[in-house]
Amino acid sequence: MRTPIDPWIAARLGIPLESMKAESLTAYQMERFRETLRYAAAHSPFYQEKLRGIDIDAIRTPTDIQKIDTTSERDLAGNENRFLCVSPGSVDRIFTVPTTGTHGERKRIFFTRGDLVPSVEFYYHAFLTFIQPGDRLLVLMGGTAEGSVGDTIDRSLSPLGVITQVYGQVTDLADAWRTVQDFKPDVIVGIPYQVAALAAWSRSHGLPEGVRCVLLSADDVPGAIRERISRLWGAEVYSHYGMTETGLAGGVDCCAHRGYHLRSCDMYAEILDPDEEGFGELAVTPFGREAMPLIRYRTGDIARISTDPCPCGGVLPRLETIRGRLSNSCRICGRRVFLSQVEDAVYRDEAAVDLECAVGEDHLQLLVRTLPGEQIDREMLLGRLRADILPKEARIVIEEETMQAFPSARSPKKHMQAEQQDTK
Ligand SMILES: [Zn+2]
Repeated sequence: MRTPIDPWIAARLGIPLESMKAESLTAYQMERFRETLRYAAAHSPFYQEKLRGIDIDAIRTPTDIQKIDTTSERDLAGNENRFLCVSPGSVDRIFTVPTTGTHGERKRIFFTRGDLVPSVEFYYHAFLTFIQPGDRLLVLMGGTAEGSVGDTIDRSLSPLGVITQVYGQVTDLADAWRTVQDFKPDVIVGIPYQVAALAAWSRSHGLPEGVRCVLLSADDVPGAIRERISRLWGAEVYSHYGMTETGLAGGVDCCAHRGYHLRSCDMYAEILDPDEEGFGELAVTPFGREAMPLIRYRTGDIARISTDPCPCGGVLPRLETIRGRLSNSCRICGRRVFLSQVEDAVYRDEAAVDLECAVGEDHLQLLVRTLPGEQIDREMLLGRLRADILPKEARIVIEEETMQAFPSARSPKKHMQAEQQDTK
């Protein structure tokens, strides 16, 4: 089935689906990019200064866009009011999220009521990839407050007659599992490592019946986690890419699972300084943001954009699997190691339900949490880490601990604890 994102974008572009091409999208995006620049230059003190001397009307192509400076979270953190384009009274939602840096700073992202409306619309079309009218949907994420992920999904899907229960993040596995058994969802949405832990828990507490699909969101999705969930639950596993800065929603994969179909009518995505394979840092420019426009915002995620047609029939560029976050990577004995690679090696072991990792110049220290009564196979794990992730000379220390509950305060976007961090 062709991704439902394509017909939605064709409708937004006002053209028939059959005649939609990547070029039609680019023309639309360039116009909205200029509109975003004009608005930011007129209303945000930060961009007034940044865009001084830029001839906005001359920005016509993706190459022209490269003349404009990127924006990083270092520009944003502590400096949010200089980005603000509306009076404080018009701000409807403020999300405070940790920065990806190591010093625990936080950044605030502002939204007007209207700013989050396009996300509701996107979720509706994104969920059409796998949801059916009347489905029961369990959301193991972000609460019931207005504007939260749970609330946004609930509002998006109510026209489809979907029965949604928003449980919030999983901390207590036994409690979350009882909810799955009582509610009997067709579809579960959650954070990768939390759903993976729940899948491991379900092995000895009764596998679920009827979970048809799982949507993983808000973090890198290691292949081992996808495979575990689909093997144990027999569910098809989809992933969503998004962040607060993109208005939560960003892109969703399709039944071909070959990358994220992006909400390209609401944002411009580009790869900065791509290497020979096309990988580089993803930057996004959301369109039409009233409260806080962000221009060429550096996400810190290393990714690649594919312009090949998708096997599902989609014709627009897709964001390929995220290779990892720069801030979640370190050099060990000179080699760059991404947390997502380490996670993939650890979660291949079904006993592993959580992981903390500390890194030094020449060593990797892992604390792997397991369910009560279970153990990981250390030799196998060492073998996987040595085989293709760490250089031979690196020291690896593995500790194990039984997990009772997930720490509730931890950000779903975990960071590698590094004694020496290298983000170059
Ligand atoms: Zn597709």
